[in-house]
Amino acid sequence: MKKTKIISLIITSFIIGGGIGFFSGKLFPKILPAEQKVQINENVTTLKFATLHTLCMHETVYTETEHLFFNDLKQIKEAFPSWKIKDFSNDTVLLGKQTHDYCPDHYFAKLEENKITVQNLNGLKLSDIDVSLYDFSEEEFKKLSLGIYLNGKDEYTAFIEDFTS
Ligand SMILES: [Zn+2]
Repeated sequence: MKKTKIISLIITSFIIGGGIGFFSGKLFPKILPAEQKVQINENVTTLKFATLHTLCMHETVYTETEHLFFNDLKQIKEAFPSWKIKDFSNDTVLLGKQTHDYCPDHYFAKLEENKITVQNLNGLKLSDIDVSLYDFSEEEFKKLSLGIYLNGKDEYTAFIEDFTS
């Protein structure tokens, strides 16, 4: 084979090869959802789960810092299908969801017979306190018999302390 033939063959194969590469790139572009492109392994140290409780519009956040073996956001999404990815940085991914309930920081206390029962607004009973009816004024008795709402952990703790100390 002549030297010029070899050179022209090389040039031709370069042109054809380049052309195929170029066109296949054009015809079959790699379309990936944006979230799949984000590689977050090795850096993610924190997952935050934020729940918006729609009956009181308070948000509770739970933070997970262990057992995080995710390579990308897609895997996180698959692992927590009922959550939406709201935000992410290099080391933290924030997931969010809404629930049609109250956050755990609301309480309802009611006097029935010789007991005050405190439950959260999702119906979970938290405390039962034995009381003596002689301890109450008439007004207190009326109020507690109808039931009162306690907002926040501080009010709850203060209320419990009032009747247990
Ligand atoms: Zn709340």
